Amino acid sequence: MITLAEKAYAKINLTLDVLAKREDGYHDLRSVMQTVSLCDDVEIDLDTGKPWKISCGAASIPCDERNLAWKAARAFFDRIGKEPDGIEIRIFKRIPSEAGLAGGSADAAAVLRVLNRWANDPFSVGELCALGAKVGSDVPFCVLGGTALAEGRGEKLSKLLDAPELHLVICKPPVAFATPELFRRLDSVEIKERPDTEAMLRALHSGDRKRIAGLLCNVFEQAVAGYREIDAIKKSLLANGALGAVMTGSGSAVYGIFRSADCAKAACDALITEYPQTFAAKTV
Ligand code: ATP
Repeated sequence: MITLAEKAYAKINLTLDVLAKREDGYHDLRSVMQTVSLCDDVEIDLDTGKPWKISCGAASIPCDERNLAWKAARAFFDRIGKEPDGIEIRIFKRIPSEAGLAGGSADAAAVLRVLNRWANDPFSVGELCALGAKVGSDVPFCVLGGTALAEGRGEKLSKLLDAPELHLVICKPPVAFATPELFRRLDSVEIKERPDTEAMLRALHSGDRKRIAGLLCNVFEQAVAGYREIDAIKKSLLANGALGAVMTGSGSAVYGIFRSADCAKAACDALITEYPQTFAAKTV
């Protein structure tokens, strides 16, 4: 039996714009995405001699073939046309679910990366991303990692220069939003504020942390206006020194960017009693 291990890093959206609704019913997106240090640990045993098995220690997450990590392993072995004699996947979850942090996609991407390495890199990063797109729309970005511009449904990726190191606090309130409902709401409201994606690309290129923080923008925030927690967390982050704060993806996690790890720790301490799922993190 062989045991493989890989970190599954969460993502945040520095900008997120929802563009036109397409003929297939999906919306085109434009988002600058960033990998962060908050992560799950994924372990895989190969050749267990037993049926496929997966565990992840979270009651709300399916521990069977519906799990995105399982789907990723299935897709990988189907693609290479052979499979080991049994596989067990263990996921040690830290990334909150229904947070907009791509927790499930991160696990799937970790499985694809580690299996590709184990098999002596039969697939290029681009091929692995394409395989990941079949598992979920955030999986390609999680395979690529770093800083990237995502377009289309999120699968058209342009790798960017890595963002400068940013100290973050990520806070997940108990509320959860259904992504399709957020898209419906966005279709019915006039979007008043959109991200300036080009300015964000320039700020990233010049490594200007203050400017990056000032340009954080997610149009989904306009679909969740009225949820007390989102506003309260943003206010707390800003009151505790954040240079900027915004909801990530379709929420409900909110993050702030801080000038130092110490500032981030203080802001984290201020939120963690009310919101136990609060994490200090940084860009990776
Ligand atoms: P996104 O940012 O991609 O919208 P999210 O942060 O909202 O993701 P996830 O943690 O990816 O949410 O979970 C979304 C759903 O996927 C959950 O309902 C969960 O049951 C399911 N799921 C399947 N596999 C996993 C996994 N390995 N980890 C977490 N959730 C998983």
